[in-house]
Amino acid sequence: MVFLMDKKGFLEKVKEAVDLARFHIELGHTIRIISHRDADGITSAAIVAKALAREGADFHVSIVKQVSEDLVRQLKDEDYKVFIFSDLGSGSLSIIKEHLKDRTVIILDHHPPENVELPEKHILVNPVQFGANSVRDLSGSGVCYFFARELNERNKDLAYIAIVGAVGDMQENDGVFHGMNLDIIEDGKSLGILEVKKELRLFGRETRPLYQMLAYATNPEIPEITGDERKAIEWLRNNNFNPDKRYWELSEEEKRRLHNLLVIHMIKHGAGKEEIDRLIGDVVISPLYPQGDPRHEAREFATLLNATGRLNLGNLGVAVCLGDEEAFKRAMKMVEEYKREQIEARKWLIQNWNSEVWEGEHVYVLYVGKNIRDTLVGIAASMAINAGLANPEKPVIVFADTDEDPNLIKGSARTTEKALEKGYHLGEALKKAAEMIGGEGGGHAIAAGIRVPKARLAEFRKLIDKILGEQVKGSENQSES
Ligand code: C5P
Ligand code: C5P
Ligand code: C5P
Ligand code: C5P
Ligand code: ZN
Repeated sequence: MVFLMDKKGFLEKVKEAVDLARFHIELGHTIRIISHRDADGITSAAIVAKALAREGADFHVSIVKQVSEDLVRQLKDEDYKVFIFSDLGSGSLSIIKEHLKDRTVIILDHHPPENVELPEKHILVNPVQFGANSVRDLSGSGVCYFFARELNERNKDLAYIAIVGAVGDMQENDGVFHGMNLDIIEDGKSLGILEVKKELRLFGRETRPLYQMLAYATNPEIPEITGDERKAIEWLRNNNFNPDKRYWELSEEEKRRLHNLLVIHMIKHGAGKEEIDRLIGDVVISPLYPQGDPRHEAREFATLLNATGRLNLGNLGVAVCLGDEEAFKRAMKMVEEYKREQIEARKWLIQNWNSEVWEGEHVYVLYVGKNIRDTLVGIAASMAINAGLANPEKPVIVFADTDEDPNLIKGSARTTEKALEKGYHLGEALKKAAEMIGGEGGGHAIAAGIRVPKARLAEFRKLIDKILGEQVKGSENQSES
């Protein structure tokens, strides 16, 4: 079933939020921006900050891991009159309501919202309430883009930054953009600040030699080549490509030849149409930056921002989005280590999956201790699926120890569209499990996160398997009636 989103209704909501913001801007109030620390959240904050600056407003940005009750309590003690939450907040409406009831709160987000009646001074702008799919039709940065555009037409020049956020959240995971992301792309094209090409959807288009671009491929994997630079070099040489060239340096003819050879290679190794669509599809580039610069292509740009966020340097990422060249140079240094850790994580998974994983009827749960950093467990869960370790129709949850509290573990759950057809909703399942055993969890149907006491892991596994089983049963009953 495909729902079409009520764009008009959504844009009316955006306008309401803009009117409210404008009222405070005119009174000279400083606006407090709280945003999520991944690429989507960082671009969200940058878009809102830029738009406010252009109206002459003062603002103060914080990039955070999540909206916890502690955070909202701290915000309450600050004396700001207006808060903007971007790329987060929808799952925490009741906490925000409880502590910030007397302040103006604008939430610009795309996570499935909690069902709560909002106080008078709070406004939620969320495309999910207008029929959008939270992981395909619009990201947090996209919501912020429409807010900025409504504030001032001139902010259309932020369309590329908005799409960088969408790509960071994998909104085009099936190979093409959907929903209101397409409207942003149209705006960007009409200004000549972005272009969408059918190319290899892999990290490294601008800055990596071809052999690394192929060896780093994890979404989808390239059989026999992912994880093995030597084999990637050999494969490229055998096919008459210079392995040290960068993808952007290839002629259109060479790109086509590379695509055809890769498709044949994938088919030979049993890949399906879906994987091939994901390998070669929409790639967004921007003439705002020179070729060979990671900011020239949206996936490399997003990776750069993710690398800053996970080191708690999200503000540096915001500065990069605003065109700060010094910040850009500093951020560049962080990408190397970030990619290296991803490769190490994949190796660890492949070596330890069979001996360490717990498999229930509806879920795999893997606890990795300190072997994979807590900021990489989401990528690890998705790698377990793409590397063929997990059956793609069964959700995967990977847990790691966290630095901030030795008694807690951080988990990320990931699954596939195919699995969702059975009725799973990972965000709802993790929220429920956390409420039952202590901790906090939530997120999208296809990707969600949780924090729970380490001592309750065994209990958690059984509980989540049961909750996911009930979701399947619930959806079977619904389709019968
Ligand atoms: O799933 P999540 O947002 O945590 O992924 C963050 C980023 O990690 C994605 O934007 C993607 O670029 C990268 N990733 C990857 N390989 C995967 C899954 C995610 O490189 N298998
Ligand atoms: O960060 P949230 O804040 O919105 O991020 C969305 C998450 O959903 C990302 O971690 C992204 O990689 C993940 N995702 C996924 N599969 C998709 C689309 C998004 O795992 N098809
Ligand atoms: O247009 P304005 O003078 O407000 O731009 C100020 C800065 O914002 C510029 O130096 C530019 O680097 C940055 N910017 C950007 N991307 C845009 C628009 C502006 O990085 N699309
Ligand atoms: O933490 P992780 O990257 O695994 O989260 C996946 C998705 O679930 C993200 O979009 C994140 O914002 C969301 N999430 C949430 N509430 C939580 C934990 C994660 O909405 N408590
Ligand atoms: Zn997001």
